[in-house]
Amino acid sequence: SAMYEAKGQGKNRVAMSKRHPRDGYDLYTRLQSALEQEELALFYQPILSLADECIVSFEALVRWHHPDQGLLEPHHFIDIVNHSSLEHAYSTWLVHQAARTAQRFQACHMAVTVSINVTRDQVESGQLADDMAQARQHHELVSPFLNVEVVETTQFHDIDLAYNQLQHARRLGAQIALDDFGSGISSLTYASQLPIDIVKIDQAVIRHLVERPQQRRFVSGIIDMAHAMQRTVLAEGVETPEQLDVLRHLGCDMAQGFLIGHPMPQEELEAYYLVGKTPPRYPLANPNPTH
Ligand code: C2E
Ligand code: MG
Ligand code: MG
Ligand code: MG
Repeated sequence: SAMYEAKGQGKNRVAMSKRHPRDGYDLYTRLQSALEQEELALFYQPILSLADECIVSFEALVRWHHPDQGLLEPHHFIDIVNHSSLEHAYSTWLVHQAARTAQRFQACHMAVTVSINVTRDQVESGQLADDMAQARQHHELVSPFLNVEVVETTQFHDIDLAYNQLQHARRLGAQIALDDFGSGISSLTYASQLPIDIVKIDQAVIRHLVERPQQRRFVSGIIDMAHAMQRTVLAEGVETPEQLDVLRHLGCDMAQGFLIGHPMPQEELEAYYLVGKTPPRYPLANPNPTH
């Protein structure tokens, strides 16, 4: 009955509230040592330029080599990192790891950047720009070396502050991408108010691109709007050749997804893509890494 359910839920809530803080605390302490023990690692997913069929960037996506649970994707732990005092150390770690990989590409004379995902606090606190300035000097990088992805639904406290900090990051050699565009109730506010170079269309929008004309018109509209604003467009979550064909036809600039390549560990990046002097071309030698 409804009453029984309500009572049951009430019980559950008590049990949850007892359990949750402790779980959070355990995960927090585990993550703290994971960061120190180097259990966290960046995987890299290729981003293809459709104009020249070359890979122009790799997106860095964090993974946790958990000693008991194996390889964990970010949704298991990234919120804890981002909403705790670990964020500061993580941010610095992320920028330095990404910069080190960007340096490897520059050493191979390839115009290939690394794209990182950043949070509101990383941007607004000025830490992103600080970490970038440090990493740039430390790794002797020339611009551009990083792309910075900010999720469309990020709620900045202070849009002027965010604007200035992102401009700072740009002067240090970053292109700014608006991530997951079109995923929520889309607002064009950020696309017009922040110094955005790249509009990155969410994979949920790309998923039904081929069979739903309405979705195709939506994507076409995003591409035309972005181009009118002199932004470039990157489609994420591209899984089929048909989707890629439609995107080419609509004038999309870049594409990313399992069709082009899965996220891969640093070792595979080294073995396949950090050899020779020319940027990797599509189709890639190993779109499906073995991990
Ligand atoms: P995102 O930045 O939108 O990254 C794209 C996600 O889609 C990645 O999941 C990627 O593995 C997955 N993906 C790529 N191509 C395809 C495809 O063709 N089909 C499908 N179904 N999925 C695809 P992942 O690695 O689990 O990352 C999830 C989210 O976690 C990322 O979304 C990003 O928002 C966040 N994240 C990852 N690394 C970091 C980080 O270092 N810092 C922060 N703050 N967030 C991060
Ligand atoms: Mg991203
Ligand atoms: Mg995204
Ligand atoms: Mg996403």
